[in-house]
Amino acid sequence: MSNQKILIIGGGIGGFATATALKQQGFDVTLIERHNDMHSSIYGVGIIQPINALRALDAIGCAQPCIDAGFPANAWGAMYDVDGNFLRDIHGTPIESTDLPPMNGVTRPILHQILTDKAIEVGVEVRYNTTFDDLVENDDSVTVHFADGSTEDFDLVVGADGVRSSVRRYVLDAVLSPEYIGQSAYRVNIPLLPEIDRILLQEGPEGMAGFVAIGKDLAYFFYNAEMERNQRPKDNELRSSLLKHLEPFGGLTGRIRDEFIPEDADIVLRPEEAMIAPAPWHKGRIVLMGDSVHAVPPHLGQGAAQAIEDGVVLAETLKKHDDYTAAFEEYTERRYERCKLIVETCVNIGKWERGLLPDFDNVAATAHVLKVMAQPL
Ligand SMILES: Cc1cc2nc3c(=O)[nH]c(=O)nc-3n(C[C@H](O)[C@H](O)[C@H](O)COP(=O)(O)OP(=O)(O)OC[C@H]3O[C@@H](n4cnc5c(N)ncnc54)[C@H](O)[C@@H]3O)c2cc1C
Repeated sequence: MSNQKILIIGGGIGGFATATALKQQGFDVTLIERHNDMHSSIYGVGIIQPINALRALDAIGCAQPCIDAGFPANAWGAMYDVDGNFLRDIHGTPIESTDLPPMNGVTRPILHQILTDKAIEVGVEVRYNTTFDDLVENDDSVTVHFADGSTEDFDLVVGADGVRSSVRRYVLDAVLSPEYIGQSAYRVNIPLLPEIDRILLQEGPEGMAGFVAIGKDLAYFFYNAEMERNQRPKDNELRSSLLKHLEPFGGLTGRIRDEFIPEDADIVLRPEEAMIAPAPWHKGRIVLMGDSVHAVPPHLGQGAAQAIEDGVVLAETLKKHDDYTAAFEEYTERRYERCKLIVETCVNIGKWERGLLPDFDNVAATAHVLKVMAQPL
């Protein structure tokens, strides 16, 4: 199939990656984003791009710009104890026939800029400040009722509208909401220190601290804090609450605590949520992807990676099949178990960090996921 007119709802990492992948396969692609511009929907600091994310980005011509703008690491990671003593290496799995690094770190704004530039370069029509009120499926199209009162027909619609998706209700019978996993992530930018040459994790008594290089001079520090959802500190208490969580730490985290924790306004605190929507991820001419069907906690740096992979596989299957239902079926089939493994492993790592799964081997679980992710898409 090609030459179909496809609407993508949502201009996040997944939406833009999918738009480019579909356009490169010959489809006529329009993307709508409810925010005003490419940067207004971005939260957060930096992003981990594991090798499988880079492989998917490479398929749409975006891996090298990320590597050029980011920090390609020579190894996946290492684990330290609360005092800063080395415990174990965490090994990645190389992907044969590529020379991509085990992981790259990049800032979210740069990643978004790269994805947006590529989508525009290949000819995707991007409409900001645009959303929809309703989707009405006909025999041979979907009529999209936009919020400004206009309507337009598309052959297919892709819901890439994130974890609180409004497109989801047109596809899934059950009403799904993501589950808060009892942890929230503090993240701050810090200068790149020489020892941050891979993902460094430091186990605390109640949560995991970590470091990721995201540029030539820039890194970010994160702390996964155990927290009731309604216990979120006020915006003017972020710094003091983070410092309190970090009190037990020596080693690199102790140094960051003492020298580099910025003011409240520069600290990002986000709840961690998990969800895996039951298959199939499509109904009629509408299909879902990214966080709208798999909300991935951050423990393995795989949420955006999975959204990008979704886009590449969706474009490949739509190109391959003459019938969109067959394409959507193959897409769900290839994506579901992979995403489920990641969501479930992240939930278990979160429980282990909180002391709820003492016998869980988080290093082995991480290595297993990285091995599975290195397999063909
Ligand atoms: C603390 C934290 C750290 C993370 N770290 C990493 C990491 O290091 N590596 C990694 O791979 N992943 C990470 N993730 C996960 C990653 O951020 C997400 O999985 C990824 O951004 C999902 O992309 P998406 O495009 O599916 O959804 P989103 O990024 O949520 O994008 C959805 C877009 O749709 C738009 N939208 C929503 N509704 C509408 C509508 N009705 N009309 C028009 N537009 C709409 C939104 O404005 C938004 O721009 C992390 C997540 C968290 C919470």
